[in-house]
Amino acid sequence: ATLTSNGPTIAEVDLNAFQENVRTLKGFIENSRFMAVIKTNAYGHGVVPVGRAAVRAGADCLGVTMVEEGAQLRASGIDVPIHILSSIMSWQAADAVAYDLTSSVSSLDLTNALSREAVRQEKNHPVHLKIDTGLHRFGIQPEEAIEFCRDVYDLPGLDWEGIYTHFSSADEGKWVRTEEQFALFMETIAKLNAHGYDFPIRHAGASTITIERKDMHLDMVRPGVALFGYPPEHRQENMISLKPVMSLKSRLLHVHELPPNTPVGYGGSYVTSDNEKIAVVPIGHGDGYHRALSNNGEMLVGGRRAPIIGEVSLDQTLIDVTAVPDVRAGDEVVLMGNQEADSISARDVSDWMGSIVDEVLAGLKERVERIYK
Ligand code: PLP
Repeated sequence: ATLTSNGPTIAEVDLNAFQENVRTLKGFIENSRFMAVIKTNAYGHGVVPVGRAAVRAGADCLGVTMVEEGAQLRASGIDVPIHILSSIMSWQAADAVAYDLTSSVSSLDLTNALSREAVRQEKNHPVHLKIDTGLHRFGIQPEEAIEFCRDVYDLPGLDWEGIYTHFSSADEGKWVRTEEQFALFMETIAKLNAHGYDFPIRHAGASTITIERKDMHLDMVRPGVALFGYPPEHRQENMISLKPVMSLKSRLLHVHELPPNTPVGYGGSYVTSDNEKIAVVPIGHGDGYHRALSNNGEMLVGGRRAPIIGEVSLDQTLIDVTAVPDVRAGDEVVLMGNQEADSISARDVSDWMGSIVDEVLAGLKERVERIYK
């Protein structure tokens, strides 16, 4: 048999809004290139449709963190440069070269493996040297950069196309720390250049820098979360108009009335205080709708706010719909997005969870169907 219908819980992805965001962000740059960072399955929006939309909207290249995502994009016919913005295991070098990806390098092992593979596959493999200026995730330490280049810069099969760093505190607006990191990066590049090691594309900035610090754009910017409609921190929201790309919707699976003093859900952490109408929404922490939203958050039903009550379970969440007139099973529920005059943003959800927008968006599991419009 084949399925003849779909479940009610869907994530709508508005690719026009995404493309508008690309154009808005491109408006901040002058002569720099524009990398659309679409890692983590395009922050949950779907790497292939979003990758295609990014290229159509004028992104010069794409950024991911997994070879698998790069391969998926290549298989879909995308031919712009695709950067792997992470170190990878040496055994993945063969795939990185075969799929014509652009690798980040910061270890001798990986650099040697990429060179061997490039020679074996008769390709010139583009690489970007990653410098650790203070995030301490990965990257060459500035004081070791010259020695590193001495060891690997002349290896066959590699095209030293770029050099980059990633800031630790730009989203928090800690400019002093960010400026120190930027200065260290520029100093390191100057030293490398003085030793004859050249890297044509220098890049450092993600969303915040793209929007706020033209002086740090260099040769390329790498925005991620802003492409999806959310500047990284609250304080920037009034400065730029971006459109949320994802809406999360479902329908009420069941509505029932409960008398006062009835414990509801696992552990009975919510107890009705009156006659209350309780509805079941078919989404749970198994979908990436986090348990931290238990007794803590809202959804929109009939244009009204319906509070989440009780514990969010694996597949279901309960809401109080007492205040919604004529409410019944089958009614639309908006978990993120607009309904009538009201709206809930991924920022609202992340605030309720005590998290960040990235986790809300990218945490939504594959089993929630994405509908593109
Ligand atoms: N560049 C690198 C190296 C990253 O790891 C990321 C994401 O963390 C980005 C750019 C995009 O960052 P943001 O989503 O803050 O724009």
